[in-house]
Amino acid sequence: MRTCHIRARQRALAALAFFGLAALCAGRASAQNAELAASADKELPSLVAFYTDLHLHPELSHFEVRTAAKLAQELRVLGFEVTENVGRYPWGAGAHGIVAIMKNGPGPTVLVRSDLDALPVEEKTGLPYASKARMKNDAGQEVPVMHACGHDVHVASLVGTARLLAARKDRWHGTLMLVGQPSEETIDGALAMLNDRLYERFPKPDYLLALHDYSNQPTGKVGVTSGFAFAMSTQMDIVVRGIGAHGSQPNKGKDPVVLAAAIVMRLQTIVSREMSPFDPAVVTVGTIHGGLKRNIIPDEVKLELNLRSYTEPVRQHLIDAIRRIAKGEAIAAGVPEERMPIVTVLENEYAPALYNEPALVERAMAAMAKALGAQNVEKLPSVMGSEDFGQLGLNGQLPTLMFRVGAVDPARFAAAQASGTALPTEHSPLFAPVPGATIRTGVIAMTSVVLDLLH
Ligand SMILES: [Zn+2]
Ligand SMILES: [Zn+2]
Repeated sequence: MRTCHIRARQRALAALAFFGLAALCAGRASAQNAELAASADKELPSLVAFYTDLHLHPELSHFEVRTAAKLAQELRVLGFEVTENVGRYPWGAGAHGIVAIMKNGPGPTVLVRSDLDALPVEEKTGLPYASKARMKNDAGQEVPVMHACGHDVHVASLVGTARLLAARKDRWHGTLMLVGQPSEETIDGALAMLNDRLYERFPKPDYLLALHDYSNQPTGKVGVTSGFAFAMSTQMDIVVRGIGAHGSQPNKGKDPVVLAAAIVMRLQTIVSREMSPFDPAVVTVGTIHGGLKRNIIPDEVKLELNLRSYTEPVRQHLIDAIRRIAKGEAIAAGVPEERMPIVTVLENEYAPALYNEPALVERAMAAMAKALGAQNVEKLPSVMGSEDFGQLGLNGQLPTLMFRVGAVDPARFAAAQASGTALPTEHSPLFAPVPGATIRTGVIAMTSVVLDLLH
């Protein structure tokens, strides 16, 4: 890329990075690759415009009305048979899932999924297209909204992939099933679609593919983890109950603030003292709320927990230990039997571990290496992050692959590596994927894998 003379001019560089054309200089390796890349480049300006629009209009989980409609519109134009509003949540509300089918003769069914939702984050990137959006959350509170996880990159990449595949129907056979999945961030969107009889109303796929942009990889590169890639995520609530009293007379009550503090500290010993060092596990208390005034001992404190693990026995051990510790600390504090803590596992917000099927990984890596160059396809270690994409693969029953797409300007990435500075991660108000180059790589990589599977 350094020999490409265009990159010498700084203003041109910024524009090129935005539209992803700089990567062209490295991507002329072979005729077939050049053909896919040239198509991606042709689509890129309109895909970036589409992305920018999504970025300016992010929508929270459960409320992806506009995003879903925009995606449906794009796919319908290409000749897909599009069904909207697929999905139902446990409380009865409809979800904004999209299923788009393109049948092209006999052959396997490949599902390609993009998530649709954004996060309650106030964007601080300072970009000209930074989100200023605000909307009401599930609780009815108005909050800032930002595509801080880059799901807008995924939607734009899905549209680009759909365009390239729709234009190459002579090169594949089978059924293409594109899914716009709502509510990934609340990890109840995939489940909502399954509960709406996803695989009875539409074909059960032979392969499932998804991509996620990545804040720790330069643009132009993709990363793949073979086997377990993302951890199980379990959500729990603890309502710590005490007995309220005047702040000056603690002896008249049972202080749930002190009890909650003891529980939070004791929870830290589960992973450090109870789990095998060879079994990865995380227990995080993400929120703690209690009390209304400084001189009142409240009668309850609420804790919201998130657990990560890779196996069911470890998950069960964490849950059991949390129940035991909550109750044990309450007994130690002298809380009466009828005021023991209420501990709940939120089963509707459970994400299974995401398992990238090794044979599918090998095949996809080979296809992507041909399309992007072997030096641009990297193996990545597994992480404790979570995804509900595994739900769509019926928890490992169907061959599933999610790969990463580098989202950081290569020069910025190299500088951060050299200086040891951390780059803004997904979910940060400063996370700013380079749109063009990231979408370009996503489109080429995903198209090459689908073409290989449906060859
Ligand atoms: Zn996220
Ligand atoms: Zn995400």
